[in-house]
Amino acid sequence: MTTANDKYEAVIGLEVHAQLNTQTKAFCGDAYVYGAAPNTQVSPISLGHPGTLPKPNIEALKFALKMGLACNSKIHKRTHYSRKNYFYADLPKGYQITQYTNPICTEGAIIINTADGGTKSIRLDKIILEEDSGKSIHDLDPFSSLIDLNRAGVPLIEIVSEPDMHLPEEAYQYLIEIRKTVRYLGICDGNMEEGSLRCDANVSIRLKGTTAFNTKVEIKNLNSIRNVQRAIAHEIIRQTNMMEKGERVLGETRGFDPVKGETFAMRAKELVNDYRYFPEPDIPPVVVTEEDIQKVRVLMPELPRALHHRFVNEFGLSDYDAAVIVAEKESADYYQELIKLTQNYKAAANWLNGPVRSFLNENAIGFDDFEIKADFIAEIIKLVDANKLSFSVASQKLFPELVKRKGATGIQDLVKELNLIQEDDDSIILTYIQEAIAAYPEKVLEYKAGKKGLLGLFMGEVMKKSGGKADPKKTNRLLAEELEK
Ligand code: ADP
Ligand code: MG
Repeated sequence: MTTANDKYEAVIGLEVHAQLNTQTKAFCGDAYVYGAAPNTQVSPISLGHPGTLPKPNIEALKFALKMGLACNSKIHKRTHYSRKNYFYADLPKGYQITQYTNPICTEGAIIINTADGGTKSIRLDKIILEEDSGKSIHDLDPFSSLIDLNRAGVPLIEIVSEPDMHLPEEAYQYLIEIRKTVRYLGICDGNMEEGSLRCDANVSIRLKGTTAFNTKVEIKNLNSIRNVQRAIAHEIIRQTNMMEKGERVLGETRGFDPVKGETFAMRAKELVNDYRYFPEPDIPPVVVTEEDIQKVRVLMPELPRALHHRFVNEFGLSDYDAAVIVAEKESADYYQELIKLTQNYKAAANWLNGPVRSFLNENAIGFDDFEIKADFIAEIIKLVDANKLSFSVASQKLFPELVKRKGATGIQDLVKELNLIQEDDDSIILTYIQEAIAAYPEKVLEYKAGKKGLLGLFMGEVMKKSGGKADPKKTNRLLAEELEK
């Protein structure tokens, strides 16, 4: 029996807005800081007063070029801005400066990870430069809507995908990749909760095996990557049920209720030509030379996929370890710092993904707030490699004390003060062994009779007596020798 799920295929295209974290707005010198007191970052230009003129921010253009280069897009040497006219209280000028017929970047792709462990390329339609609107606040005053114009004129890039995705999970991965990329490029903080990264999801369904596109629905105001995935999943079910009942899916804009996990109708789709686009007369065409592109190219950081590849191939990390480290730029930077100081690349990864990450998670802080410099961790790795310290003592006793003191005490001093140096003196270890053997005469007999697993019991005893400091390798060897006697 075929189910509705086998019969249909979803078609998904995403429009992502990324707020560029330039010093100043797109067309004037106003600063923008998220969370600043309302309407404090607005000059007459942001307010669109008569007689004011926009002046393009070159930094914003460079940021858009960075994204274009990161996505292997075509960069257009001559483009211009357009006006998109509409009336809304949070748009003081009555139009948005955007790009319409000729985007700064077209084509290119975002590579995503797929569930089967492979990758898939999601083609881009375009990347355009535009300005943000102000913000309407509907939930503060019971009788009125409030307007905060701080955000008006903040530069944005809009990244428009081709409708190449077919699963909610692919949309999720696509956003993970975009967020990682803008963060590595340092052009946007990628925070969906604060609205610096926003996503509209376009969803339609069609019979499997057909290629024509059906009417799509656009879901707006999605405030987390997980909610984008959930909204699409729900929308696919809703449209499938409609198709099965022989109903027509209407082209409309929908919202998403995260509590119910459902999309809901907001408004019928407005027509494109309602906006009366025309070329922005106050800004000359944007001209980018090969030299300009080259200047941006040299600023490009190594991107996560390239880093991942290098960590696996050059440093022998597992795919998993590499993925965890490159997931955030801060941890990748920390790792690169660390491996300048130690050649034990695997141990460096284990430290970052083990004790360090646990500490950060427990304290809900990120790598950028981690106060222990990489040279401390490198020194611990050296001590462990030299058998002066066991990994368990290092991670369970030394590291917690190190973070407690915020790295104020050097490793050598701390190890001495806490008396952690591993015992590798044969005679001392042998004393512990003899004590352990004397405590369990029957177990010794059982061991001799073939129950070799009992070695663990004796190891445990010796470790207890030595306060965890007996060199485990040596103890293991000496114990086996003593028990065989
Ligand atoms: P609109 O004119 O409605 O803005 P666009 O052609 O500009 O539509 O596409 C906007 C987004 O919708 C793009 O990301 C595109 O991939 C996606 N899209 C277009 N057609 C469909 C469809 N039939 N189903 C799903 N997504 C679609
Ligand atoms: Mg569109």
